[in-house]
Amino acid sequence: MTFFSLSPRKRWTAMLLAAATSLGLSGASAGATELAKDLFGAERLPALAAPQSIGFYSKGCFAGGVAIATDGPTWQAMRLSRNRRWGHPAMIALIEKLSRDAVSIGWPGLLLGDISQPRGGPMLTGHASHQIGLDADIWFTPMPDRRLTASERENMSAVSLVNEKTHLVKNNLWTPAHMRLLKLAASYPEVERILVNPGIKKKLCDTVTGDRSWLHKIRPFWGHDYHFHIRIGCQPGSPDCKRQEATPNDDGCGKPLAWWFTEEPWRPNKNPDAPKARDVMTMASLPKACQAVLAAPSPVSEAAVTYPRGGTTVIAATPSNTVRAAVALSDPVPFGASAFAPTPESGIPLPFPRPGK
Ligand SMILES: [Zn+2]
Repeated sequence: MTFFSLSPRKRWTAMLLAAATSLGLSGASAGATELAKDLFGAERLPALAAPQSIGFYSKGCFAGGVAIATDGPTWQAMRLSRNRRWGHPAMIALIEKLSRDAVSIGWPGLLLGDISQPRGGPMLTGHASHQIGLDADIWFTPMPDRRLTASERENMSAVSLVNEKTHLVKNNLWTPAHMRLLKLAASYPEVERILVNPGIKKKLCDTVTGDRSWLHKIRPFWGHDYHFHIRIGCQPGSPDCKRQEATPNDDGCGKPLAWWFTEEPWRPNKNPDAPKARDVMTMASLPKACQAVLAAPSPVSEAAVTYPRGGTTVIAATPSNTVRAAVALSDPVPFGASAFAPTPESGIPLPFPRPGK
């Protein structure tokens, strides 16, 4: 990879880095004041390097990403124009395995939501986390028995399983297969957490019999009413990946869940215009190694890093208003909420953690 084979922006980054080095500023962050979401959001391909997650789920990036094919025998990816089919290879392998195992327990296949951007990092829209290639959203809608068109994948509306007034699951939509799918996802040792709407957590708490040990991985959170969110742990080869706190060992069906059925979590945001973490996160706020991830060369093509090989490809429709409308659906969170914070105790008003914590 020569200097001149780099894209103009990478050439610029390389020149800045070279200038910084010649000034004895090695480690000084070139472009430190640029918004990280703009830089990472513009990347079309991953950083060609050994797979490595850097930083935290809500503040980091990753190298060596691979994409899951838009279509496989047991999955179809949604919202293709977002280009968020990228993840750490362990995440992509897990999704593929989950989709196969899901079919064997009677779920007809997975509709895949967002995983990560090619090099991770903060996104222009949606998601505080999903930054280090270890998070993935899976729809609660079963895969239909035909291939969806690119436009259907952009526009098909997501169906909420939860009544937004009562925060309880809509019993006419909930099925035992939903429970089995979540139990299956929780059964993999690499899966550390699964985020679901509090109504769904409550439904599981109220109905799961026999083995309930997996319920501790199922964590209530805002949104997550038409999809669930799988988070795997830091993978080998990622010394700078910051682990999340372990979930408590009990089933989480007691006081912490009761808090979600009080009025407090649903109060309107007092300061709706306050900037979100992604709107202030500059390169200087990310781990330094994320500069190198941005500057790294790309693989020759998307196909070269798409798995599994031989998957069919549906060409993404160009972004449109419908995409923006769809984006607005994702994870509406009324507060500067953090999926990493311990669930507050019932009835104890706690200050909400700052975004990006
Ligand atoms: Zn998610």
